[in-house]
Amino acid sequence: MELNLVFFGPPGVGKGSISQRLEKTYRVPHVSSGQILRRKAEESSILAMQIKENVAKGELVDNHTVAYLIEERLGKKDCRKGFMLDGFPRNIAQISMLDAILKHYDKKISIVIELSAPEDVLVERLSWRRQCRQCGKIYHMKNLPPKKPGVCDECGGELFQREDDLPETIKKRLEVYKKSTEPLKAEYEKRGLLETVDCSGEIKENLANIKAALKKRGLA
Ligand code: AMP
Repeated sequence: MELNLVFFGPPGVGKGSISQRLEKTYRVPHVSSGQILRRKAEESSILAMQIKENVAKGELVDNHTVAYLIEERLGKKDCRKGFMLDGFPRNIAQISMLDAILKHYDKKISIVIELSAPEDVLVERLSWRRQCRQCGKIYHMKNLPPKKPGVCDECGGELFQREDDLPETIKKRLEVYKKSTEPLKAEYEKRGLLETVDCSGEIKENLANIKAALKKRGLA
């Protein structure tokens, strides 16, 4: 059975951390639009410069650019049995773009999970977040620190703070989320695909809540 899962939720809610852990359980890859864009932004091209600027300001990158990159990623062999999509779609227009991409690959969304947590929890998590430059693993310097300071437990890569995790940009990203991404909820609810999961607690608890939502729909 394919598991074509879409996660959405505000920045800091744990989409990345949760997907990284579920990859091992469900054996489908974590496809993060933010991660794909950050990689692309490292290239030396006009497109890379544009992406870098949007990401640094906490603004959305152009719909077609992101959709193109997601289409390319979902066409890779490891997505045949499914995927966990994190960060796409992020606005109403991207919903139809994802529909078109999935139609092209003859796939259907199995479930859309909205992760939720109060704003003060999100801001706290984002401020303490560090990420591995090499493999992308996410750490919380207070609650989930690496064994050796500044070094990734998984691959030995260097940990860094995302430039969009600084207070002013966090504020902007939360605003963009409310305005552009929250409306996704109504559309997926209408399609009968939506499950909302509380992710305000410890990572273990949040993972258990997600697994329960998947079980409820016969997906785990
Ligand atoms: P994330 O890692 O999901 O928090 O994304 C980081 C940044 O990448 C966002 O603040 C946006 O600038 C950009 N981004 C990620 N996904 C999308 C998307 N689907 N559409 C437009 N911009 C995106």
